[in-house]
Amino acid sequence: MGSGEIENPGKGSAGADASLRGDESRSGSEAGLEHLAVPAGSQHRSYLVSQNPEFRRASDGQPRPAVFLDRDGVINPTVLNPATGRMESPLSTADFSFFDGVLESLSILRDEGFPLILVSNQPNYALGKATLNGLSAIHQKFVYELVRSGIAFARFCYCLHHPRGVTPGYSGLCVCRKPSPWFLLRARDDFGYSLRDSWMIGDRPTDTQCGKAAGARTIRIEPEHGASDPVNPARALAARPDHSVRDLAEAVDIILTRRSV
Ligand SMILES: [Mg+2]
Ligand SMILES: [Zn+2]
Repeated sequence: MGSGEIENPGKGSAGADASLRGDESRSGSEAGLEHLAVPAGSQHRSYLVSQNPEFRRASDGQPRPAVFLDRDGVINPTVLNPATGRMESPLSTADFSFFDGVLESLSILRDEGFPLILVSNQPNYALGKATLNGLSAIHQKFVYELVRSGIAFARFCYCLHHPRGVTPGYSGLCVCRKPSPWFLLRARDDFGYSLRDSWMIGDRPTDTQCGKAAGARTIRIEPEHGASDPVNPARALAARPDHSVRDLAEAVDIILTRRSV
């Protein structure tokens, strides 16, 4: 996918974004949300939230590395859904907690000057298993804890779609769902990042595929329970990460060690 498929990000920025909060009466700016322009022909909305105005293209114009992070299974534990027997995204704020050491690891990346970008698939509204308010409440708890620790992400990117969703406007194919590198390409274009020098950290093969498709370096955090999506051999090859680690602290060690390479 090339950047030529991406429209001018300034387009269509008012109004619709507030729906992540489930509050259609607020404008995007009031809700702290910003709409990412949807490529021509797409029937879907794509979202980033809590754009941080401090993070803009470097004034010297030099491309710089960023760290892209998946959320569930990297920053917070997934939660056992008794109904399915699978480890899934938290559906309530009570189920959202940080892995031990994650805030410290993010602080190190911050102190070392890496912009942080969240790239998360959150299809549970599309699938009819969560409300937008519920997803937003979890996001707000996440951000609250980050702010308390003095950690600012440059951008939070959520794909709310699912190919087999049941919610109109969020179901079917979209451009942004990982393994698509779309959010990484957008960040490159908007902030001037060098994806070749950037990192994608995730716990699933689709995270690694996303990072590789963007030309970034990839680190896989092995799932805590050894549970993983079934992957066919060809796909497993495509999803082989540059590094495998146990947690974000180990991932940060690799990033700092490799920075000068
Ligand atoms: Mg994950
Ligand atoms: Zn999407």
